[in-house]
Amino acid sequence: MYSIRRWVVRHARFFEVTYRLFEPVVVKLAPLWKWMGYQRAEKTVNTLEKFSKELLFDCKMCGQCALSSTGMSCPMNCPKSMRNGPCGGVLQNGNCEVLPDKRCVWVDAWEGSKKMQGGGEIHAVQLPVDHRLQGSSSWLRVARKAAEEAPQHKRGEHDD
Ligand code: SF4
Repeated sequence: MYSIRRWVVRHARFFEVTYRLFEPVVVKLAPLWKWMGYQRAEKTVNTLEKFSKELLFDCKMCGQCALSSTGMSCPMNCPKSMRNGPCGGVLQNGNCEVLPDKRCVWVDAWEGSKKMQGGGEIHAVQLPVDHRLQGSSSWLRVARKAAEEAPQHKRGEHDD
């Protein structure tokens, strides 16, 4: 897993493009998720998300994915769960002070973000982790939010 996640960071641009193509598909399927019921859809989407993201990113299913802002390096792999950059303990060789045989996830995040077109997002401040979302699907949350913010939905609200 560790070598795969480091490989992903080296190819952050490819994964950025892939996600940009994938996200609208999940959003377009919003009527399907609504028809299934979000609770039932959660089971299906969650299984797919967990399988693919654990494999590629060593994902911990925090439920509020930040990968597109962190150079495709999952911040939840930081032993201190730092979401806004590294702690003060990065070793001189760029490794983690808690896990000295592993690269600091934020050093990887910086390198990954330099490869990405939207890499400047690394400067965006991340909200504190909401532990109530642990284990839930970020993909479905993004799809649901986009569907709820769509103009058609808003028009529907005002039609009542
Ligand atoms: S930020 Fe959260 S959802 Fe995204 S890869 Fe890391 S643990 Fe998974």
